[in-house]
Amino acid sequence: MKKLLFTLVILALVISCAEKEATFNREDGLSSFSVTGIENHIKILSADEFTGRKPFTEGERKTLAYLEDQYRALGLEPGNGESFLQEVPMVEITSTAAPSMEVKSKKGSFTLEGLKDYVIWTERTQETIELKEEDLIFAGFGIVAPEYNWNDYAGLDVKDKIVLVMVNDPGFGSENSSLFKGNTMTYYGRWTYKFEEAARQGAKGLLIVHDDVPAGYGFWVVQNSWNASKLYLDTRDKNPYFCATVGWVSNPTAKKLFEAAGIDWATTVSAARQPGFKGMPMNLKLSTTLSVKSRYDKTYNVIGKITGAKQPDEYIIYSTHWDHLGIGKADEKGDTIYNGALDNASGTAGMLEIAKAFKSMKAKPNRTLIFLAVTAEEQGLWGSEYYAQNPIYPREKTVANINIDGINPYGKMKDIVVVGIGQSDLEDYLNEEAKAVGRYTSPEPNPVAGYYFRSDHFCFAKVGIPALYTGTGIDHFEKGAEYGKQLQDEYVAKYYHKPSDEYDTSRWNLEGAVEDAKLLFNVGKKLSFETTWPQWKEGSEFKAVRDAYMKK
Ligand SMILES: [Zn+2]
Repeated sequence: MKKLLFTLVILALVISCAEKEATFNREDGLSSFSVTGIENHIKILSADEFTGRKPFTEGERKTLAYLEDQYRALGLEPGNGESFLQEVPMVEITSTAAPSMEVKSKKGSFTLEGLKDYVIWTERTQETIELKEEDLIFAGFGIVAPEYNWNDYAGLDVKDKIVLVMVNDPGFGSENSSLFKGNTMTYYGRWTYKFEEAARQGAKGLLIVHDDVPAGYGFWVVQNSWNASKLYLDTRDKNPYFCATVGWVSNPTAKKLFEAAGIDWATTVSAARQPGFKGMPMNLKLSTTLSVKSRYDKTYNVIGKITGAKQPDEYIIYSTHWDHLGIGKADEKGDTIYNGALDNASGTAGMLEIAKAFKSMKAKPNRTLIFLAVTAEEQGLWGSEYYAQNPIYPREKTVANINIDGINPYGKMKDIVVVGIGQSDLEDYLNEEAKAVGRYTSPEPNPVAGYYFRSDHFCFAKVGIPALYTGTGIDHFEKGAEYGKQLQDEYVAKYYHKPSDEYDTSRWNLEGAVEDAKLLFNVGKKLSFETTWPQWKEGSEFKAVRDAYMKK
């Protein structure tokens, strides 16, 4: 009896100790972070041998092998049954457009020159696409947004017709922050949304009127899509509707079309910014053709996990894209390898370092941590989209997504940027962790560009999972905010999506990357010891989706 009592006391002590350990400890795991830890992964993944890590290439094979090795070495469990890989079936569509487009108006006909005046392509796989005197309809911004009581398609018959819409959303440039989100871009302002909505409306084609300022980039960026091959998810088994043609017209071309239609451009465009605007047929007929080649292939997401001790069926997903642009057009130095050191060997390195920190902890997390390195982000967020549509872990059991696309290469910053500020409670977690180490969070410097809709966390957001996406701060510890801003502008001008995005010790200082990775680690760690569920904030585009399935 005495022996039994003794055993029970010991058992009780063991249990209470274990329980005591399983709480959030800000310091636990931090000592495993190091500059060299992150640096080594970046050096390897961005080396020329990895040929820019484009899906379907030798670079993909090397990257997957490297990541699987690292996941195993870290002691992560396979995230997809017995496997570290999730197959992502895709199709590469190469459209070759006829060199011109005929426009027939009541006053006569004229020809638009492909590439110079407009850029079109297709998301369909049929071998030829023909536009044969198709009606053109102007539909304002091409937006259906019930929460803003806005419907550009109301009362318009666009079925099997070509729709012409304006770029961005009505809030941009309105100086009215309650019209959509003012200058902050909403998802309705993104071209991807406009393509999706036109397809939902059954349009045959969609053309967006380009404009430098509201688009945020010049027409040359759009021109890169001329006769280029693009990747899409293989949806043969699902048979969704895509427009036969999608694309852009230049601003002068749009004005020319309006003139031919006898509709005043300036008054129509300003009317389209007002609620209740009605679009109209332009009485123009468009004709052109496209020939299409498609190639089916498979690429892979890499997924590993650390099973939680107490709530193993509740998940926190770290995501980062492993892919980049591969081999392409030579730069002025003749370099053709798009190494993608910052974009996104660095984020991948950061996530591996965070996984290592979780494995090093004294207390095992209560919730399960998922480490998802996704494919084909650069081609349209496809790896994360595929995961979100085919989740291995159910969305109603997924607590949060923390996405890393690029880490800070400029040294220690006082701030860390929250992209899409005001979206979810996750920013409050980040705020708290930043404060605890004498740092602060700041809003993104360029909310007009809609970065919240431009990396992988967005695919989680679309299915309602609260998602945190941060950016490099600019408030440099020693050199101040001007210096930080200058470095970021220089990155966009000289290195972003160019062969020069290489690892370079003379330019890079990863001490700030370590500090940012620690913050993101602590946010996930805190969540992993909680039973709470962070929410979307009031006014977020994604709140309704989440609430609909979480209330059940
Ligand atoms: Zn990226």
